[in-house]
Amino acid sequence: MTLLGCIADDLTGATDLALNLVRNGMKTVQVSGVPEGEVDLDRADAVVVALKSRTIPARAAVEQSLNALDFLLAAGAEQIFFKYCSTFDSTDQGNIGPVLEALQEKLRSDVAIACPAFPEAGRSLFQGHLFVNGRLLSESSLRNHPLTPMRDPDLVRVLQSQSAGSVGIVPWETVRKGHVAISEAIDAARNEGRNLLIVDAIVDDDLRAIGQAVAGHKLISGGSGIAIGLPENFRRAGKLNPYDPVAGFDYPAGKGAVLAGSCSEATRQQIQTAIDAGFPAFQLDPFKLAKGNAEVQHACDWLSETINQAPLPPLVYSTASPDEVRDFQIEYGRDRAGEIVEEAQKVLARHLFGIGVRRFIVAGGETSGAVVDALGVPMLEIGPEIAPGVPWTRSIGGDETIALALKSGNFGDADFFSKAWGMSI
Ligand code: ADP
Repeated sequence: MTLLGCIADDLTGATDLALNLVRNGMKTVQVSGVPEGEVDLDRADAVVVALKSRTIPARAAVEQSLNALDFLLAAGAEQIFFKYCSTFDSTDQGNIGPVLEALQEKLRSDVAIACPAFPEAGRSLFQGHLFVNGRLLSESSLRNHPLTPMRDPDLVRVLQSQSAGSVGIVPWETVRKGHVAISEAIDAARNEGRNLLIVDAIVDDDLRAIGQAVAGHKLISGGSGIAIGLPENFRRAGKLNPYDPVAGFDYPAGKGAVLAGSCSEATRQQIQTAIDAGFPAFQLDPFKLAKGNAEVQHACDWLSETINQAPLPPLVYSTASPDEVRDFQIEYGRDRAGEIVEEAQKVLARHLFGIGVRRFIVAGGETSGAVVDALGVPMLEIGPEIAPGVPWTRSIGGDETIALALKSGNFGDADFFSKAWGMSI
């Protein structure tokens, strides 16, 4: 039976979470959306449902999340984990608060923690303020995100603005004292009428203590970092069998390609490093994409020509600077601008599959969602780690096996694309 049921608001976040669970000894299966009909979850200890609900209207995000909840409860999940980005990516209208409160109501959970901290990936939380690689969230590059610009680092205030209930905090002075003190602080906050609690965490030991403190909670929420403290609860209760994730992970034969739609600083640097290393590259012009099919057709033709010529996989990217992104968004609106580019990435993914590509390296959370959707991948098995938060994965349950490295925009070192490709050959 499934022990832990997870609902992730985007695809790369789901994969990142699944990797953390696998690394801590839980056999984990990831499904794209709520599966229709019967699925064989292969006796997974944890199931992660990857949604694409981060930036859709709050009401739709709530509906999708409640569907995922029903599926996970039917699979036997004892505890539900709502996973969002470690940089708390959301808009002023939601969706973290509305989804959390809807899950709370259905699960009759009176208090749920919210802890996006992920120290290994440079995200820490102190006095409710989120830091990204040592900078306040609002002073990091996330302030220029194309879809969810984060300009307020005070997560109590951010979450409160999205929630109907009352948001409190468990500060680091309490967290550092360990799981008993954290449990007591959660009880005290519950008695004060708080229903959501931002919990500080600076190092992995904080996450483990928080994990232990929430062992009996029906609902918890956070980034994937908090997942490192959860498997131990099930192991302590004698419910978890030993599990080795990397044994036997094979890469399918076939060609490779890189698709990038993230405009994050990290991805921009990774693209430059890949070009310098000799990856053949094609830059999509979003203004041309908006005007008809010619640009994407041009990219498809270029891929067909290049795929058999270069020793390194071809790279197609829409990635652009904050100024260029802003110009495009002013012309088409933020949501439509994203859609135009994602539609093109879907066409490219299908074309690549058609010309024999079976190993895809994808940069960007929304972009990865679009690619997986276009390829019709129903379930993913989690394999070896490429960078913190990013594993190679392999499709299961479809006709053909495809390997996918799905990278959240900000993750990975400058040589990420070479590293991922090198591991797969
Ligand atoms: P990240 O993981 O960095 O958040 P995402 O793929 O989730 O990356 O989000 C990037 C968004 O920006 C996507 O919706 C993508 O289609 C859009 N986008 C990509 N290139 C451009 C561009 N040149 N101009 C405007 N938007 C773009």
